[in-house]
Amino acid sequence: MLETDLLVIENAALGKEPENLRFREFLSDYGNEDVDAAVFRLNDTVSAAIDCTSCGNCCRSLMINVSDTDASALSAHLGMTRELFEEKYVEKSPGGRMVVNRIPCHFLEGNRCSVYEHRFSGCREFPALHLPGFRERLFTTFMHYSRCPIIFNVVEGLKKEMGFEQP
Ligand code: SF4
Ligand code: SF4
Repeated sequence: MLETDLLVIENAALGKEPENLRFREFLSDYGNEDVDAAVFRLNDTVSAAIDCTSCGNCCRSLMINVSDTDASALSAHLGMTRELFEEKYVEKSPGGRMVVNRIPCHFLEGNRCSVYEHRFSGCREFPALHLPGFRERLFTTFMHYSRCPIIFNVVEGLKKEMGFEQP
């Protein structure tokens, strides 16, 4: 049974901080390929069972990167000039890095993305459990463990599948 209640997950994550640190250590005894294979399998099942449009928590709580290609594609979709798009929706660092200038994201309507087909590349990738190298991204994955039900359930499934001892 998957846990999808955001409040329950947030509270559980607080209580599981020491356990998760131990689990990260535990994973260092395994090879990337073994861990990735298990994560891919779990992610396929969990992602298919969780409806992101009933959640939207990443869109409500994360700073979203905007690449040059993303900005061009979405401004074209919205029928705006790049200049106006950046003025309305983007904050630029002195080094030229772009992020959406509001949290929650401007394009979130209820729990749904209003520009889903044209959403930013980082949105398409998140929570990145389909990508190889899970063990190399433990810091960012666990940073989002308390906010993303997909991550939470995949990690909890992984603990069981790998025989990690839980209190
Ligand atoms: S563009 Fe869409 S998917 Fe990306 S953060 Fe905004 S609302 Fe969410
Ligand atoms: S990716 Fe995670 S946090 Fe974002 S909407 Fe889906 S389940 Fe929620």
